Amino acid sequence: MMLEMARPLLVNIAMLFSVLFIWNMVMPFTRASSIDLKEKFIYGVISSLMALLCMLFPLEKFGDTVFDLRVVPLILVTLYGGKLPGFLCTLTITTGRLWMGGENAWVGVVIAIVGFVIAIGFGPYFRKSIRKWKGILFTGGIFVFSYIAIIVVFLDPLQPYFYPIYFAAFMIAYFIIFYLTERLVMINIQLQETVYLEKLSVAGKMAAAIAHEIRNPLTTVKGLLQFISSETEDVKVKNYAPLMLEEIERTNKIITDYLMLIKPTKNDYDQVNLNKVVKDTTALTEVLASYYDVKIQYDEKGEFQIWGNSQQLKQSFINLIKNAIESIEGEGLILVTLQNGTKKGTVDIVIRDNGAGMSEEQLEKIGLPFYTTKSKGTGLGTMITNRLIQNVGGRVHYTSTQGIGTTVTVTLPITKKEGE
Ligand code: ADP
Ligand code: MG
Repeated sequence: MMLEMARPLLVNIAMLFSVLFIWNMVMPFTRASSIDLKEKFIYGVISSLMALLCMLFPLEKFGDTVFDLRVVPLILVTLYGGKLPGFLCTLTITTGRLWMGGENAWVGVVIAIVGFVIAIGFGPYFRKSIRKWKGILFTGGIFVFSYIAIIVVFLDPLQPYFYPIYFAAFMIAYFIIFYLTERLVMINIQLQETVYLEKLSVAGKMAAAIAHEIRNPLTTVKGLLQFISSETEDVKVKNYAPLMLEEIERTNKIITDYLMLIKPTKNDYDQVNLNKVVKDTTALTEVLASYYDVKIQYDEKGEFQIWGNSQQLKQSFINLIKNAIESIEGEGLILVTLQNGTKKGTVDIVIRDNGAGMSEEQLEKIGLPFYTTKSKGTGLGTMITNRLIQNVGGRVHYTSTQGIGTTVTVTLPITKKEGE
């Protein structure tokens, strides 16, 4: 009896795997947030295909009742792809099951709909959470529970050996499929990050070379200007020379700062009072904000010390707040919050604006060197910020909705009480 079920089970799992891998090869899996409508449609079609294949090779048939793994692709696609592909898959399963007919076809329909609804219910939690297995576990658990309940209530009792074997097989297939999908997603994301970092480092090196090249002629100009201005009798030259020298000095400073970014020295790191740094930053940017009719509200929930360079930290927060200000048209509000991080031992600086927001594509490009949507932008701000924050062991995370606004979360590690 066991063997009779093992064979179709293996066939089912093998089919699901091969479709999964080919699917990932053609359309590398990512998180649901970056799937567009067309892709969602394709997701729906492929998962429907997977479900139909499962239905072709049922694990077990008791008269009118058919048991197979069709709900696995349904839950999978609803969790990863969202409502639309899930709905398409449900529709296919329902139609397929009704077409196969039999007295108990409606039970299959009910089970598919229940699976769909549960997956939709857990969808937001699943997509938000960092540890995906929890969402997967809850969804699977509650689904199997409902499944058993439906069978027990509506069907004539089946042979008792059937329940543990079928549901164990179901859960095993379910977890293996999810494990593989999650692995594939992780691999794809890592690949994307590697490509991104590669681009970043090439652009960074080029910029460093250019900056270095500019500094040499600048030094010559500065020296000559000093020489001329000290020798000359010309009033105009005497008057304007200091200003010119100042400007050259400023240019030099910008380049030095930029070079420091690319080759950061950790020597000037110190214990930093983050509350003071963030407060200073908001005070500094308030002037610019009021010019744009934007209010900045600062809220601190606790005292935080971190290891870093206060100047560099200020620079990175200024970049973020400036972007927030610039994203707002008309009146606006920027909320800056300093609070305990979601992970233990970290602190979050959350900068929320109600500006224009960003589309998925824009979100993907943000932080790339020279990516800007502003006529006077440089496209270097967020790149520098990311670099500076990474240097102190932190992370910058963006969430954004077009027309609603953007939330930037900077997570930094808190310094341990004693020493390093
Ligand atoms: P720049 O500000 O010079 O354009 P950045 O690297 O600071 O360069 O930002 C890159 C782009 O990211 C901006 O041009 C803008 O389109 C987008 N951006 C950054 N922050 C926000 C935000 N808070 N809201 C909306 N768009 C943003
Ligand atoms: Mg900027």
